[in-house]
Amino acid sequence: MTEVEQRSADVVVVGAGYAGLAAATRLASAGLDVVVLEAGDRVGGRAFSEVLPSGVRVDHGAQWIGPSQKRFHDLAARFGCTTFPTWETGRHVEVWHDGTRTDHSADEPNAGLGIAEYRRVTETLDELARTVDLDEPWRTPRFEEFDAQSAEDFFLRQTHDNDAQRRLALAVQGVWCCEPREISFFHVLFYLASAGGFEQLMETSGCAQDSRFADGADALAVAMAAALPGGVRLGEPVLTVRHSAQGVEAVTDKGIVRAKRAIVTVPPAAVGRIGFEPALPMARRGWAGHTPMGRVAKIHAVFEEPFWRKKERSGIATLFSRSPVGVVFDNSPEDGSRGVLVAFVYGDRVDRWVAAPDSARRADVLEALGEVAGPRARMPIDYVEMAWSEDGWTMGGYECFVTPGGWAEYGEHGWRRATGSVHWAGTETASVWNGYVDGAITSGERAADEVMAALRIPGQPA
Ligand SMILES: Cc1cc2nc3c(=O)[nH]c(=O)nc-3n(C[C@H](O)[C@H](O)[C@H](O)COP(=O)(O)OP(=O)(O)OC[C@H]3O[C@@H](n4cnc5c(N)ncnc54)[C@H](O)[C@@H]3O)c2cc1C
Repeated sequence: MTEVEQRSADVVVVGAGYAGLAAATRLASAGLDVVVLEAGDRVGGRAFSEVLPSGVRVDHGAQWIGPSQKRFHDLAARFGCTTFPTWETGRHVEVWHDGTRTDHSADEPNAGLGIAEYRRVTETLDELARTVDLDEPWRTPRFEEFDAQSAEDFFLRQTHDNDAQRRLALAVQGVWCCEPREISFFHVLFYLASAGGFEQLMETSGCAQDSRFADGADALAVAMAAALPGGVRLGEPVLTVRHSAQGVEAVTDKGIVRAKRAIVTVPPAAVGRIGFEPALPMARRGWAGHTPMGRVAKIHAVFEEPFWRKKERSGIATLFSRSPVGVVFDNSPEDGSRGVLVAFVYGDRVDRWVAAPDSARRADVLEALGEVAGPRARMPIDYVEMAWSEDGWTMGGYECFVTPGGWAEYGEHGWRRATGSVHWAGTETASVWNGYVDGAITSGERAADEVMAALRIPGQPA
């Protein structure tokens, strides 16, 4: 740094994922001067699309949008981003711990080992989730009792059916990218309530996995950033935030932005990389200690064509076996001009998988794909891995989860309450579709409204 650049603004936004971009869009449309500082060299954060050498575009992070994710849909329509239905025609495969396979189609959801008991437990989850207060979770009946236990504690008391337990464990891995022993049972209920129920989280048509974006899940982020009058300053991680009742200073290695308010949208784990002066209050620090990021890797394998479709296979699979892969989906482009399978590795399986040499990692994933889609799946023309726990500015995904006791101890004061002139956004602070892009957008808009209320500026609908 030769000379420190000094800039004044009404609001400084830290992070250019969907939360930061939604906050900045709302503030700018109300006429405020906004500076957005982004650590990475692109916008979109946990939505990150890339075109591979085979010409296929893949989404390394977020990829699906569901019909009830209203703000995501509104903005996608406004910026002309089109979607298409997720492929789910054909038979889905389940590979069991002892190597046995079963298959079923989307219209036979009740086929499979342990399914009746699994459904009974998930209905109980839905029933309890209906009692959750989404805006003030600590007012939920039996809040402390539920938060004191892990999801595993609850499941073990609910059923002795080992196959149902395996299904429940994979559901936790698939939704929160952690193990049932790690996550607060109250957080599970909160998250279910936030999405509108268990089925909304798990299913495809009409639910969270309903559709994909024709031009990638970050196309909307790119369009939103381009429409911001001040754009986004890329490659500028915020190192320090000095804050007082008079305002804030966001310090990067290129300069200082002085503003009346800051909106910090970085994932909870990344908050720890920013120095706050004065230090954040105890509740906020305690919350950070109870909100680790999930562990997930996404692997795409590309083929000349989606050959499994000819055999009436959907490409959708769940693996309860020792494979690192937990779930597989058909991620081919809308026109089917190439075949793409995406494999998800979650929780403890990620820890073991990332530690293996490149060749062993790849061999394990291709072995699983071969099991699911046939021997041709072991010979992709393109192959790419993305382990989010290795990403320095996100440190995991899909989102953070809350460990037992975290909500009760620190939730009320640490979750999203503003710290003086510093406001908090990011999908983890959302009441609706927490953990999803839709939640990121509404969190940014909520924080923008907080700032405008504090500055006594009339809000404008985005
Ligand atoms: C593998 C995976 C799959 C997913 N699938 C889906 C899906 O299908 N559908 C869905 O809706 N959601 C999905 N999600 C979740 C979704 O991606 C997130 O909920 C959403 O993108 C979070 O947006 P955000 O703005 O809150 O945070 P982020 O996108 O994490 O944005 C925060 C930004 O802050 C930046 N930053 C960090 N530290 C600093 C700093 N010190 N200074 C400046 N900038 C900083 C980061 O680089 C990042 O760009 C998935 C996530 C992952 C990882």
